Amino acid sequence: MNSYVSVVSGYGIGKTLIIDDLILKPSLKIVVNPNKELMILDQALKTFRKELEAKLHDPSSHDVLAFQYAMSLDQEFIDSIKHYIITKKMNAGYALRIALDYYVSVLSTSKNDYIRDRIDDFESFYERMMYVIQGIPFIDITHIQDDVIVILKTLNLHVLNQLNPMYVKGIIAGAQSVTSHAAIIAKQKGIPTLFGVDQLDTFENNEPLLLDAIENLILKNPTTATLSKYQEKTSHLKDDQIHLLSYKNKSTVTNDGHVIPLLGNMSSLDDLSLMASCGVEGIGLIRTELLFIDKLLPPKLNEQVQLYSTIIQAITPKIITFRLFDLGGDKHVPFIHLKKEENPLLGLRGIRLFNAYKDLFYTQIKAMLMASIHGDIHLLIPMVSTKKEVVEVIQLINDVKSELLQHNIPYGNMNIGVMIEVPSLALTAHMIAPLVDFFSIGTNDLIQYTMATDRSLTIDEKIADPYHPSIIALLSHVIESANKNNIPVSVCGDVASEPLYASLLIALGVSTLSMVPHKILLIRKHIHDLNFSYINNLKEELLLLENRNDVQALLTKTPSN
Ligand code: PEP
Ligand code: MG
Repeated sequence: MNSYVSVVSGYGIGKTLIIDDLILKPSLKIVVNPNKELMILDQALKTFRKELEAKLHDPSSHDVLAFQYAMSLDQEFIDSIKHYIITKKMNAGYALRIALDYYVSVLSTSKNDYIRDRIDDFESFYERMMYVIQGIPFIDITHIQDDVIVILKTLNLHVLNQLNPMYVKGIIAGAQSVTSHAAIIAKQKGIPTLFGVDQLDTFENNEPLLLDAIENLILKNPTTATLSKYQEKTSHLKDDQIHLLSYKNKSTVTNDGHVIPLLGNMSSLDDLSLMASCGVEGIGLIRTELLFIDKLLPPKLNEQVQLYSTIIQAITPKIITFRLFDLGGDKHVPFIHLKKEENPLLGLRGIRLFNAYKDLFYTQIKAMLMASIHGDIHLLIPMVSTKKEVVEVIQLINDVKSELLQHNIPYGNMNIGVMIEVPSLALTAHMIAPLVDFFSIGTNDLIQYTMATDRSLTIDEKIADPYHPSIIALLSHVIESANKNNIPVSVCGDVASEPLYASLLIALGVSTLSMVPHKILLIRKHIHDLNFSYINNLKEELLLLENRNDVQALLTKTPSN
């Protein structure tokens, strides 16, 4: 038994493409010819500067690039690398690391946050330089044109954002959480993904690889016989998908006529085409921060209006739910510089950044309102913990509306909702419901905060359990508060796309579910087989159960299963 964890199931065949830090760890080589290493270093610095010069002309270029450019010219720094090459006969990559380590150790003792934050810039500089020094063409992963399986130590949002599922047939990474945002976006992209793979340094670039993220296997240099066996398996998978396609144009309704619309989660403009092919009945969550994940500067008003308008025009008259920027925690963007925190998931995240970044939220709300002339929209406030935070956002929305009116700028309808993902808000949902038009429950965070277990921990490390009675009790309270106040309540966390959990949520009385589009047809089929009256009757009993097995057993006992 290996320790691999399938994050996105499926099969992938392609050539190995090792990216990120795996190739960035130079080992020490005592060189006979230091001059050669000095030339390698000079050449790498030249190439590095040339590339940066092209980017620095871009008006949106960022301080970080300017800082890195300055580093590549800093004679003292360059001399210190050369010193190691000449006196210690080190290879260029190793000498660079040693010289950098010295600078990093000095910076890390500074009491000044700004200076300490420059460590990241040093590391980015190092990363880029290592590609050049090792003679590895900097892989422009946005332009991969062959079938590849990407190997990397830690999957992050920035890498993922650039991977094109048309060519990236699989992802293999080291131990990582399946509820991290990177895992969630891998699901969104539908790229077969395995986490928890150790000995990543045994992979070689360009070797043929077969990834089985169903049985959790990795086969290097597969034989023709193996490949044809997997072609057969792939075609069986396709058959299952074709069967599900018969649900594409159906609405989602239980066998006794109870309607539960299924909405899609979205995190990039590319997801729009998925929305149509997966038969979504609207969009229940647009993670807007991910639409701009690589922006160096805050997105401008017009840019946002245009992007939001494109989405609205494609989806209206179905529900469209934009969430305000949910930054912080494990989501960082270059366009705002957040301080490093000891416990980022408990710190400045989501709407807690509202007062410090008022302009950012003001522009976003204005852009959403201006785009709403193309169709009604829902606005979702992330990471709310108190009523005050909701009131403040509503106030700003009203201010922006007044300003638009004053300038004769039209806007359409905007429903305002809150993410329920912090226990304090879940417990007071009955007090919040009268203030808003809808609830959306973010179980990914609600579970982490209720069970005090970091969502970025790996499965082995954390104790999070979506079936824990505390979670079911909270969900029940939130859903009941919404129902009593006649506002819709959706669940947009990962568990909504698990059939049995969808049953549980429906039993508790949820109005809609929102999930990665790839799972919509599977869940629609599941719901078509459910009997709402029967399952809804189980609610009181479910609330009394103390463990996952009992809850699952009761849910599977439904007549439809
Ligand atoms: C959640 O917390 O469940 C959620 C949907 O938001 P995110 O995963 O983006 O934090
Ligand atoms: Mg969340």
